[in-house]
Amino acid sequence: MNEPRIEDRYQAIQTRIVDACGLAGRDPAEINLVAVSKKQAPEVIREAAACGISVFGENRVQELEQKAALCPEGLTWHLVGHLQGNKAARAVGLFDAIHSIDSLKLLERVNAAAREAGRTVSVFLQVSVSGESSKFGLAPDEVSPVLEASVKFMNVDIVGLMTMPPHTPDPEGAAPFFASLRELRDRLRAATGFPLQDLSMGMSHDFHVAIAEGANWIRIGTALLGARTT
Ligand SMILES: *Cc1c(COP(=O)(O)O)cnc(C)c1O
Repeated sequence: MNEPRIEDRYQAIQTRIVDACGLAGRDPAEINLVAVSKKQAPEVIREAAACGISVFGENRVQELEQKAALCPEGLTWHLVGHLQGNKAARAVGLFDAIHSIDSLKLLERVNAAAREAGRTVSVFLQVSVSGESSKFGLAPDEVSPVLEASVKFMNVDIVGLMTMPPHTPDPEGAAPFFASLRELRDRLRAATGFPLQDLSMGMSHDFHVAIAEGANWIRIGTALLGARTT
């Protein structure tokens, strides 16, 4: 049996996005897709790009450094995985957006690297809403101080918040975590005046739940590109 083509998977996902938006009374045009291509070969990325997908997510600086030259030009790359401070300059050279800022120190380093490179980087603050210590991310009460401290950083644009809920067998189990991130965003918006318009939440198995809870960036890997290979 042949593996489904990316084109077919992409259409199926677009249908599910439209359905989830229909149920939530949202406009599908609000939903942005990051095709998470970590551990996928450049040929897979090429096939996806040929379907009109243009935003790809990677979780390691080094992996994209190795693959980028083998991928089509004109793609937009987002970093979705943990970033070590000492790789900030390399990350700024490769990525237009970073979804995984999990400390003030890291934000400061990304800002300094972006200033050095003469550019601005879009960033999401990653929040661990479950409070699991094993997960990367700021605790909910750490976000406001980071926002306040960030006003002096001119080369990062804090567009919103990101979270990775703990895995639950039933995708609906993620709903309370997604709702917590949205509520935190709403509180911070009212308290700080930062617009925080973007919520990056939802992956292959729970993106429909994330859309119901207000996500406007969904990060989809295997459901779109197939099993990771390398
Ligand atoms: C791998 C990864 C994804 C995509 O996961 P899938 O289950 O393959 O959709 C999304 N976000 C982050 C941060 C990831 O590391």
